[in-house]
Formats: sequence, structure tokens, C-alpha cells
Amino acid sequence: MKLVTFLHSGKERTGVLSGKTIRPFQGDPSLLSVIRSGALPPFAGGSLSLEDVRLLAPIPRPEGDIICLGMNFRDHTVEAARFDPVMKRENKAVYFSKRTVEATPPGGKIPSHRDLTQMLDYEAEIAFVLGRDAANVSPDEARECVFGYTILNDVSARDLQTAHKQFYFGKSLDGFTPMGPCIVTADEFSYPPDIPIRCYVNGEKRQDGSTRHWVFSIADVLCELSRGMTLKSGTVISMGTPAGVGMGSSPPKYLKPGDTVRCEADGIGVLENTVE
Ligand code: MG
Repeated sequence: MKLVTFLHSGKERTGVLSGKTIRPFQGDPSLLSVIRSGALPPFAGGSLSLEDVRLLAPIPRPEGDIICLGMNFRDHTVEAARFDPVMKRENKAVYFSKRTVEATPPGGKIPSHRDLTQMLDYEAEIAFVLGRDAANVSPDEARECVFGYTILNDVSARDLQTAHKQFYFGKSLDGFTPMGPCIVTADEFSYPPDIPIRCYVNGEKRQDGSTRHWVFSIADVLCELSRGMTLKSGTVISMGTPAGVGMGSSPPKYLKPGDTVRCEADGIGVLENTVE
């Protein structure tokens, strides 16, 4: 099942997408509240055409920072360490957070923030959304904690992340979290998931990976983090990007205004955004 948040007649609404048709939920509860309630709300009756609405990020305003993994694909670890030797992964997962005041919708603009960065980069990723509060999760319980999956572009200002010795600022500028086009419930995928993810910039394929190549799995992440910190239902955890980001090219291929970044994931859809 594909859950969407969308604008229709100026109102933020939610529902289930199948093909090109959306069945809206009665009362349009936020997807965050739907996920937390543990049950699907009733439908409003009737349906809408996808063409008559504007999709928003499925969770437009995440509660709390998004939790991200860095260097969770071996091939990306190699290119990242070439760019900055500090970004060498040891045998522990690299966690960081990404502030997202408002997630950028499918088709939305990625601000280039030219006053702050000359090294704007993309990272196509699969993120999962927690469907329950997670504390002291065992490996066997991890699967049940996953509500579903979405595409997230972990837009990054490389010069800021290097200058500040920390990913936080360089990953958290306004508009740096394109997300969508939907959340697909976990039952539509195998577990552990094997979701192909690709990224194109102006039509040129830059990234081509699959979640089966994650170094640290969902179970690894949930078991480790939830030992010491409770993770709330609705938390978004983005699992890292494969090789092929702009900083990995030589010379680097950073984004510039007018560029189009298209992230695709089989079974989820397309998340396309233009830099402005
Ligand atoms: Mg990333």
C-alpha cells in the first residue's frame, strides 16, 4: 500500500495511492498520526486523480531530526574517503542527524544556497519509517518495527560538512530533504529489503545500487540505537547512499541551478527535483 500526503484545493490531505488514483482518508489525518495510531483510518468516499493533486512529502514536517547513516555502502565509503580521508568508516556504523523543518515535495525545488555552498551534492537513499516506538529491540523484533519505506535525497553541502567537522549543518539547510513520492508499507517488500535505487542528474545515471548492499542492516541499526535511546514511532531513518555522488567524481560534479535530480526506487516510485 502506498500512502501519500497531497495538496488538493489548497488543503493538505492524505490517502492511499493505487495507480493514478488516490482514495483520501476521512478527516485527512497526517500520515504521522496514521502511522502512530497503528490502524488505517476510514476512507472519505470517492477518489481523486493523481493529476488533480500536488503530492507533498509523505511526512512533510518530520517530528525530530531524521536519523541518517553515513558510509553504509562499501563503494560509497571508498569515494567518500577519497574526497576527505576523515570520512573513513571503521567497523562501526556512522550515525548523524538531518534537521528537516519541511521536507521538499516531489517536483519541488532544491535551493542552491549559493551564499553558503559551492559544493552542492545529492545522495539517493532509501529511508524507513518506524511503525512503533522502539526500545531495546532484539534482532527478531526489528522487522516488526518497520512501517514502510520511502525515497530520500540526502542533499549535502560538502564544503560545509568539511568546514564544520560535522555533517549536521551541511545536511540540514532548508530544502535539503526531498522525500517521497509515497511511503510504501513494509509488507510489499521482502525483508531484509532488496530495493534497487538509482539517481540521474539531467538524465545521466550517477548512482545505481540496492538496499541489499547496506553494510549495516535495519536490524543492526535498530538494535544498536534502541539499546540506549527510545526511537519514537514515525521516526525516519535514512540508510545511506551508494557510490556515484558528485564529490566522488574526478573532477567533482556538483549540482548547479537548473539541474534536475531524479531518484528512482523500484516499488516506490520517482522523486524528481530541480535545483534553483
Ligand atoms: Mg546520506
